[in-house]
Amino acid sequence: MEKILNYIDGTFCEPSSGQWLDNYNPSTGEVYSQIPDSNADDVSEAYKAAEKAFPSWSNTTIDKRSRILIKLADLIEENLDRLAAAEAKDNGKPLSLATTVDIPRASANFRFFGNAITQFASQAHESVGLQTMNFTLREPLGVVGCISPWNLPLYLFTWKIAPAIAAGNCVVAKPSEVTPMTAYLLGELCTEAGLPPGVLNIVHGNGPTAGEAIVVHQKIKAISFTGGTKTGEHIARTAAPMFKKLSLELGGKNPNLIFADCNYDKMLAVTVRSSFANQGQICLCGSRIFIEDSIYEKFKKDFVAKVSVMKVGDPFDSGTHLGALVSQPHLEKVISYIEIAKEEGGKVLCGGEKVNVAGKEGGYYLAPTVIEIPNNKCRVNQEEIFGPVVTLIAFKTEVEAIAMANDVKYGLSATLWTKDVDRTMRLSKKLEAGIVWVNTWLNRDLRTPFGGMKESGVGREGGFEALRFFTESKNVCISWEDGE
Ligand code: NDP
Repeated sequence: MEKILNYIDGTFCEPSSGQWLDNYNPSTGEVYSQIPDSNADDVSEAYKAAEKAFPSWSNTTIDKRSRILIKLADLIEENLDRLAAAEAKDNGKPLSLATTVDIPRASANFRFFGNAITQFASQAHESVGLQTMNFTLREPLGVVGCISPWNLPLYLFTWKIAPAIAAGNCVVAKPSEVTPMTAYLLGELCTEAGLPPGVLNIVHGNGPTAGEAIVVHQKIKAISFTGGTKTGEHIARTAAPMFKKLSLELGGKNPNLIFADCNYDKMLAVTVRSSFANQGQICLCGSRIFIEDSIYEKFKKDFVAKVSVMKVGDPFDSGTHLGALVSQPHLEKVISYIEIAKEEGGKVLCGGEKVNVAGKEGGYYLAPTVIEIPNNKCRVNQEEIFGPVVTLIAFKTEVEAIAMANDVKYGLSATLWTKDVDRTMRLSKKLEAGIVWVNTWLNRDLRTPFGGMKESGVGREGGFEALRFFTESKNVCISWEDGE
């Protein structure tokens, strides 16, 4: 059986405990590899390697750092097919999605931050008349921790690592234990790209052991975390009293507001995608759909017609729209919410059941599910399900729509469908979300700030925001003599 290894100090190594965890293929339900069950000793070794590499890496010229990052981007592109196949097998997502979204974006993350670091400048403030000059140094923090989830494995892992190392930090990183494969393969590419040993150290294992060991490590200066709100809260409680810098990208329960004046055909096609892409396992999926009542019945009919014919199947089959959910426990969690919806008076319009895929009977497949629910207070509209389940509610007025959209503890993203520019401005300002998409969805320019409000997170990633997070600013104030 294939063994995934930790990548510490530029070398692949086994866990110090000698213990391993099973890694499942979600499309068959079979164990296909094993991963290190790392603990605090492995994290400590990773930290030592990072600490040793830091003086040299933080003094490496911007040009050289940039070139290594761009080389890594090129290598990911050259290995697109291999990495996409590994991602589809490990996560259960359609190969087509991994090939067109996940892996290209992982490459783009390194390319973007390889370029961005060359443009990252600090400020100078001359106190005119006082013979004083101030300038700001932006220094790397030292050794930082990056912890990422299973839904977009390499995409989100590299979204953190790229700005961290571009800014001159060294990293101890942990991918989700559920989807470790592409992070493992990244180690090889780092070596090939000439990234010095110790700059990036990848430790595999369980969140509460390996992840926790990163969070509680006395000398790791910052934690960049993407995952569930509960885990984020736990990490904040642990790390805040240690005065670590924290970036938390957490859950979402995003509203999709559809007004009658929108471009209907475009809205319908994009709404199918924003509901079910990656089996609905994207923190930005629009899981609560609010529709203006004059088009509610038409939308319901057309949407259900499109969703009912989506093909659930083998991720490697080119006709597949939805692959497998990531794990058995996650499948059970999602199904339990469908049951809750029924108890709350919800009407399942399509889906709602497991799908048996011929030859893959052990896989975790679920039909895309549309539920009409009585009100926004239902648990299914308040709690993150993170699967192929969306709810429909009609609204009469803009005021009612915005009230329901904001009446939730999350505030990650929102989508608005309208051609009315006044309404666009009014609602964009009122929506409690870190990202508002108007007449589009998942449209990303990596220079823009990314992150959530309320319980969807603290801090922003993306562009210079990420480079600011991974650096400490220091003011240098020089008084000079006005001689001859
Ligand atoms: P989790 O919070 O369960 O896990 C995220 C990561 O944290 C994993 O690597 C996990 O390891 C690790 N972890 C778990 N417990 C601890 C701990 N005590 N200390 C340190 N690390 C720990 O989230 P999921 O992996 O289930 O991901 C789904 C969630 O991520 C959803 O809520 C989704 O909304 C959110 N998300 C948010 C995004 C955003 O940008 N805001 C983007 C994508 C997802 P392990 O898996 O090994 O247990």
